[in-house]
Amino acid sequence: MALGDGAVTTETKKIQLIMELRRMGITDTRVLAALERVPREAFVPPKFAAQAYDNTALPIGQGQTISQPYVVAYMTEKLEVGKRMTVLEVGTGSGYQAAVLAPLCRRVYTIERHRPLYREVSRRLANLGLQNIFTRYGDGAEGWPEQAPFSRIIVTAAAPEVPPALVEQLVVGGLMVLPLGPGLIDQELTLVRRTKRGHEIERLIGVRFVPLVAGSVDGGED
Ligand code: SAH
Repeated sequence: MALGDGAVTTETKKIQLIMELRRMGITDTRVLAALERVPREAFVPPKFAAQAYDNTALPIGQGQTISQPYVVAYMTEKLEVGKRMTVLEVGTGSGYQAAVLAPLCRRVYTIERHRPLYREVSRRLANLGLQNIFTRYGDGAEGWPEQAPFSRIIVTAAAPEVPPALVEQLVVGGLMVLPLGPGLIDQELTLVRRTKRGHEIERLIGVRFVPLVAGSVDGGED
């Protein structure tokens, strides 16, 4: 292998992935640019680095996964994030979705219930110099009341119903995207719009996410 081949391959794979996302219907160029900018290989375990630009979910430890790039792009597009907005993410996981949102808004607040993932991601985001992402360890279904209200909320784990605390922490007119479903199958990505009196719901596409689990787990030392 000639020097530099690895880098060229990664770059080529990344461009092919962006082209695939366009073919699949992602049209927002800011979203595509954000995905192009974030090195997904830095968010997956080293043994999966070669698959970092495959359009698939991958394991990240603790039985959790980094979402499929198409789903990340689709959810980000549906969120219609603006430069001055604050965004809350529930389910930090690898931190990839947060890193994609970061260049599109003012601040991303993200909560993870697995302490080893939380520790790892805080280090990773600092190493990548992503300074407008704030991480927290805890139960994201409770939201982050001290920083509320949020312009946008994204939940990257499936809940049986819209968590009421999250609707309360959304500004009137604000949007939330989350997978809704009772189990591992038959989940529907859902768009929630906060209104003066409550919220409206629009069903989007079928998806498969890990479940939103109440409470947090320490998981000991990492
Ligand atoms: N957004 C992630 C993928 C998330 S996988 C990424 O870009 O990599 C879903 C994550 O949600 C898992 O890490 C899981 O531990 C976390 N999770 C599940 N229930 C949660 C809860 N109640 N509060 C916070 N995080 C939760």
